[in-house]
Amino acid sequence: MSSGGHGRIPQEVVEEIISRNDIVSVVGQYVQFTKSSGHNMFGLCPFHSEDTPSFSVSTTADKQIFYCFGCHKGGDVVKFIQEIEHLSYVEALRLLAERAGVKIPETNDPKYQKEEYLRKRVYEVLKAAAVYYYKSYMSEKGEAARAYLQKRAISNVTATNFGLGYAPDEWNGLYRFLTDRKFTKEEIVASGLFSTKNGRIFDLFRGRLMFPIFDSMGKIIAFGGRIIGDGQPKYVNSPESVVFSKQRNLYGLNFAKQSKPKQIIVVEGYMDVISMHQAGVTNAVASLGTALTERQLDLLERYCEEVVLFYDSDRAGQNAALRGLKMLMDRKKKHTAMTTQIRVARVPNGKDPDEFIREYGKEEFAKVVDQAMPVLDYLVDSAHKQSLVDGKFDPIKFQQLVSTYLSWETNEILRERAAYQAAQILGVSTASVMAETKRKTEISKEENTVRIKREEQKQAELTTQKQPGETATRDELVLLCLLASLGQNYPAFVSRFKEEPLVTDFTMGSMRTIVSEILPDLKAGKLNGRRLVEAGENLILNQRPASSTLSEALVSVQYGEGLDSLMLYTINYLYRVRTDVYTRQKKALAKRLDVMPEGPDRTATQEALKKTIEYLKYLKGKIGKL
Ligand SMILES: [Zn+2]
Repeated sequence: MSSGGHGRIPQEVVEEIISRNDIVSVVGQYVQFTKSSGHNMFGLCPFHSEDTPSFSVSTTADKQIFYCFGCHKGGDVVKFIQEIEHLSYVEALRLLAERAGVKIPETNDPKYQKEEYLRKRVYEVLKAAAVYYYKSYMSEKGEAARAYLQKRAISNVTATNFGLGYAPDEWNGLYRFLTDRKFTKEEIVASGLFSTKNGRIFDLFRGRLMFPIFDSMGKIIAFGGRIIGDGQPKYVNSPESVVFSKQRNLYGLNFAKQSKPKQIIVVEGYMDVISMHQAGVTNAVASLGTALTERQLDLLERYCEEVVLFYDSDRAGQNAALRGLKMLMDRKKKHTAMTTQIRVARVPNGKDPDEFIREYGKEEFAKVVDQAMPVLDYLVDSAHKQSLVDGKFDPIKFQQLVSTYLSWETNEILRERAAYQAAQILGVSTASVMAETKRKTEISKEENTVRIKREEQKQAELTTQKQPGETATRDELVLLCLLASLGQNYPAFVSRFKEEPLVTDFTMGSMRTIVSEILPDLKAGKLNGRRLVEAGENLILNQRPASSTLSEALVSVQYGEGLDSLMLYTINYLYRVRTDVYTRQKKALAKRLDVMPEGPDRTATQEALKKTIEYLKYLKGKIGKL
């Protein structure tokens, strides 16, 4: 993944994306910088829990590197996004491209073009399938489906708007429909609407009411099917495919975004969304059969200022709610720039939003939305409800739950406010609730630390078999960083000192691999910190990933102010590193001579030793002059 193209994205576009995403502003969306020192800014690490900032970002244009002195994570802006958003390299680049408004062109990579073509065809398959389901729905076969929707009070207009259809109870009706339209077997199977058994292909959905699932741009990417009448499972979604990822989409968002709402309501089911839209509540979406994911929240943040979550009031729904809320609060810690407000609502009397809105209408529903609680209030309320056993309040259970929930919140003020509410319920002082919460926070911090230690140990075990070719001296690392800082001034450096670093100046193994990788960039005056770290990709250096070791060196190196100072430091370190190499060589030759019998080999070795000693003297003289 070092030099050359990056699979699907041409190298020059990669460079443009990176240069338009200043690492300080990107990282600043997740980390609050609290102090600066030299060219580095420091803040609390988003990757491990700590009380004093050891996470640093090097602000100069030539470096653009982050490094944590606590957990040793480090790298460039793409690596940071990969780590914090759990994305692949290409996905992280795409996110940064979007952030900076860089257009990624179609590439000529035949593999990519083939995949693009398949995606295009799958969209067409899905569109054709929607036509097939719609025709079936309107035909005689669809009578039961139409009756079902009538029973749920869904009008024809609404059904058509949402593209509802019907999959007849047949084994291969859709398959025949698509092969007649000249889709290939590969395209048909890739749509996710089929199952294969013993090489034969069957329609996945049979005897179900069909809901096309659209992406936010309104393209069909999948289908959900609801059984008509009894039977299990009630709802089935088509599986993830080349065009469908359920974590990244929300049902109904393409409709909801049209009115540019300030607020978006998230419910659990398709039918809820459809009923709500029909009743005039057009800002409703549904997560796709899972609790809300981080990606879905990203999506929502792009379209609104406030999210109101509805969870089913059954036990499974409530557990999903708690898991989802924990995710939200963790995310809030990570994304310090998150501005979207989140509240949680509950439909009275254990009803679905769908039932409620049909019975009481839009105005009553709006009141329920208005009463939605901030996340922490909801958690206190939920702890209270969970602590009622057969109508009797269990204070022990309540205080245990509530102190756990409050420990999820990092904002002291919000925490104290919620502690006050909990204290009212318990009939104790706010201070004692806060004290218990603090204890819980410490425990969870401790657990976190133990977990990180364990991971570090594992990592260390993986890398402790110290490979002879995987070490670097401090001076070598400093030299590389100085060279990276020289960048376009490198040719001036060479003409001033008449010296250039050579591959042989560096320790054999990883270091030499890195140096030979960066030499062309260096000579072209194009080396910078990021490229240096990139050259260490997949290598080990000093028992850590080389990218981490190099990042640490980059944020640590100081060379005074100005180009002159930088050049003097660089030449100085070059001589020091070279002196090291020749000193080691001198020792090795001397050792060999000790056990060598007389003969031509011995004479040659003696000669080599003499030359080495002379060169060392020369270097010493040079260093002395600086
Ligand atoms: Zn860290």
